[in-house]
Amino acid sequence: MRQRYVIGGNHSATNFLHVAKWEDAFEYYPGTPTIPVFKKPDFINGDVDRFHIVVEDATRGPNTAHVLLDLDHISADGAVTNSRTWKLEMSAPGVFTSTNLLVISDDYDYVYDNVYPGVAPNLHLRSCHAALGDRIEAVYDVLRPDGSYFYAVTNDTATVGADIKTVTLSVGVMKTNGVEVVDAQRIEQDIQRTRERFAQVNVRVATNAVVYFDAPDSVATNLNGWFIDWWDNGTLRMTQATRDIFDAAAAAGLSSNECIRAIYVPTLQTPSRNDIGGVAFMESYYQGGDLDYANSFFVAYPAKGFTFAHELVHVLTDEGHSSQLWNLMYKLEAVTNTPLAPKRLTKEQEQAIRKNTKFVK
Ligand SMILES: [Zn+2]
Repeated sequence: MRQRYVIGGNHSATNFLHVAKWEDAFEYYPGTPTIPVFKKPDFINGDVDRFHIVVEDATRGPNTAHVLLDLDHISADGAVTNSRTWKLEMSAPGVFTSTNLLVISDDYDYVYDNVYPGVAPNLHLRSCHAALGDRIEAVYDVLRPDGSYFYAVTNDTATVGADIKTVTLSVGVMKTNGVEVVDAQRIEQDIQRTRERFAQVNVRVATNAVVYFDAPDSVATNLNGWFIDWWDNGTLRMTQATRDIFDAAAAAGLSSNECIRAIYVPTLQTPSRNDIGGVAFMESYYQGGDLDYANSFFVAYPAKGFTFAHELVHVLTDEGHSSQLWNLMYKLEAVTNTPLAPKRLTKEQEQAIRKNTKFVK
């Protein structure tokens, strides 16, 4: 359904706004200079659920419209309001339609970052965006041919996101020689990036705890020698070191009750001794006592920028990789070859995530 703001004189009327989503929206041109140009600038029109604005000027004059959106972002320490401005294209006489409006995104996604391609280098730069559950109010300036302006404000605010669900994480951090393998800032960055990627599927990412635990002896005495699991007659079996890590985290308070366990470890190796950035323990691959440890994932620090979100999708969907470069589930070892764009999910992946009623509520 299309949102419609009727502007007459100094007044406006509004219905409601839908959430912005990212599917098929962010294929950047290679080498785009300083402005975000999209290969599919009309992406909003293609998805009825996306944040989408039509400003209708009742005078039907040859005006132009500028839209200033006040994004009332409610942060942990109180309300913070940020604003962004777009010029709307006239789609019919007196009707102005957003084409590349995006709200839940990254203002600096086009900045090339050597460490995390397509990701703003710090959280502060990404604070200007609405999050799921935020309230939004739109303010308009409409320029008349004589140079004067209408000024209009929508009559009410709208909530970003429809039918929002929540997945809860319990985060464990291993310590080696008394030192945490990852600092609190990096954990917050990983979770924030995950929140941004999951916003497109209307799933809020929450944490119920961050617990720290000492490496179990089986890992501490053999930091680069332990490995994760191995195939055994069609099922995966965890190594004792892997089970020890889960047990040590649980003893420190890591919860497995209706939440996904995310554990940072210093190294991750396959039985063939390949270093990997993350591993998802998907329920369908394990059996017996190892099932108690499933629905969880490990991340080896320092992992690449999207590893945390990527592994969470594995766990929730019980599915593997995508061959599409822009997809969050593209195999991560090739992440540096991906476009400078937010890593996103398809409609099918969205449905698979939301279908997991055990952990997505
Ligand atoms: Zn993967």
